[in-house]
Amino acid sequence: MRPIGILGGGQLARMLALAAHNLGLRCRVYDPAADPPAAAVAKHHRGRFDHVEVLRQFGSGLSVVTYEVEHLPIAALEKLAGVVDLYPGLSAIRVASDRLVEKNFVNAAGIQTAAFAAVDRVEDVDEAIDRLGLPLILKTRTQGYDGRGQAVVQTRREAIRALRKLGGSDLIAESLVRFDSELSIIAVRSRTGQIAAYPLVENHHGEGILRWTLAPAPELDRRICRRAEKIARRLLAELDYVGVLCVELFRVGDTLLVNEIAPRVHNSGHWTIEGAETSQFENHLRAILGLPLGSTEANGNWVLFNLLGRTPDVRRVLELPGAHLHLYDKSPRPGRKLGHVNYRAGDPRRARVRLQSQLGLS
Ligand code: AMP
Repeated sequence: MRPIGILGGGQLARMLALAAHNLGLRCRVYDPAADPPAAAVAKHHRGRFDHVEVLRQFGSGLSVVTYEVEHLPIAALEKLAGVVDLYPGLSAIRVASDRLVEKNFVNAAGIQTAAFAAVDRVEDVDEAIDRLGLPLILKTRTQGYDGRGQAVVQTRREAIRALRKLGGSDLIAESLVRFDSELSIIAVRSRTGQIAAYPLVENHHGEGILRWTLAPAPELDRRICRRAEKIARRLLAELDYVGVLCVELFRVGDTLLVNEIAPRVHNSGHWTIEGAETSQFENHLRAILGLPLGSTEANGNWVLFNLLGRTPDVRRVLELPGAHLHLYDKSPRPGRKLGHVNYRAGDPRRARVRLQSQLGLS
């Protein structure tokens, strides 16, 4: 079979390529960086994402193309989709790459989000404050991730300052949700229409970056799990989606609000490498190739702990029974995702505290 192409060569592409190896498949990654993390395990084509000709050349020798980043130039992708099948399709990227389009789309599907308003000038800030109240969270509509391109504002003055700092237009204001917990659900839909969903998980962020995930989410009412799966299935159907989709949620009591959707494999699903019958990476590949999906069942309780900025002593991780170390071969930088530990434990809340203190992780 011809190789599978992946746009983006970061750790997600690296883990996709590793899963592909087990199925006897090869991947090629396309990334503007000189030596991205996935280049160690897949052939790397260096090029800009808006460089249509180079992108088309990349696509022409492949069986199918997927992506590990959603902030991609749509016009270039349209051209690429003319030479090779692209999964998830363009409608998913169009929706997920713009927070305003995404929120309108989610609401139109009958699913709740935080209240929001488009902000393109000072008058819009006033209107948003009148309608949504304070505090607000202002975010750039495009390109923001891992908490970048957003600001929580308590006053009108702060809001005006944030408007300028975030570029002056093309923003979205959201009411600040007082959530009880942050959850996410990863679901997958194959080209054949087959759908499967992983258990709902509980996520903990610091400064907008995922710190750890408890999987499956502990102490959750079954009805909430069913509700989350229903939301994911609805979105998969609305988007005529192929591949893995992650839906990030706020839980307020029994209510679920969609925060954002990621049309790709997702950090909160890294526990599935050892923790589920079939990992999110393998199921994504199965889905885009039209192969039968594997079971998404968890084989225990897991803590997924992100290694940010620095890595712990490898020996101390490896001597912990139930711990699995994944490093992405990236050079350390403050806040950078360098790897993660998947840790199987009876009580995931306690296990997270133990893991953090035993490994000296912050
Ligand atoms: P995002 O980039 O939209 O995923 O936001 C990153 C993190 O910021 C989320 O995981 C939340 O912890 C927080 N956050 C984002 N939007 C809101 C909101 N409307 N209300 C409360 N917290 C939020």
